[in-house]
Amino acid sequence: MRKKVIAGNWKMNKNHREAEDFIQTAKNEVPSSDQVESIVCAPFPFLQKLVEETEGTSLKIGAQNMHFEESGAFTGEVSPVMLKELGVSYVVLGHSERREIFNESDEDVNKKVHAAFKHGLTPIICVGESLEQREANETMNVVESQVKKALDGLTNDQCAQTIIAYEPIWAIGTGRTATSEQANEVCTHIRKVVSDFVNADAAEAVRIQYGGSVKPANVDELLSQSDIDGALVGGASLEADSFLKLVEAGK
Ligand code: PGA
Repeated sequence: MRKKVIAGNWKMNKNHREAEDFIQTAKNEVPSSDQVESIVCAPFPFLQKLVEETEGTSLKIGAQNMHFEESGAFTGEVSPVMLKELGVSYVVLGHSERREIFNESDEDVNKKVHAAFKHGLTPIICVGESLEQREANETMNVVESQVKKALDGLTNDQCAQTIIAYEPIWAIGTGRTATSEQANEVCTHIRKVVSDFVNADAAEAVRIQYGGSVKPANVDELLSQSDIDGALVGGASLEADSFLKLVEAGK
């Protein structure tokens, strides 16, 4: 049985005070990490404080991006070494907003995934099609290509430890969730891609999240699907009450 993994993606939201209030409310209320993995992916300036405040609890902290280089002349960037030193455990890579707004390529994502493993961070790799691609029946091909390029060159064990988030772009922040069948169909395909590209054991172990307008009202149905092992949640992860309902559903 794969353990469910629920990750909040705060994106570029909250001030320091709001971030702290959230963590104070949530850190002792999340279910034990034996039951479900609960993660908050916060903006860089909050990470150190949030890691300190959640130490010894089942709430884990992730970053939303990083550079693949360890150090050097990369003004404005944050390295995997820095994240590891802070005690961050997870990093979201290749979010569609990074791909679309900041021109991140599949090659960049692959380099970042390698860098994450090198420094002991678990990558949450985002893949997903645009509305145009879905309407042109390209969903499966787009997602397959993104998954293979992201995992290229990893060991089988690393592939097994990866978290993949299937996030159809048309469902992100739009209130328009994929139906649980639509979401599961793509997640099943992703598992098959991992099986063919890596091996059956890695496909059985890899956790595949769905993301895109997940909220307390639809999370149970999404998580009941055969190949959906968790959720990556933006809007509905911003309030502690709502986040706690989501992680509760993952038990
Ligand atoms: P949303 O965002 O839950 O607000 O749709 C999901 C995401 O972008 O990870």
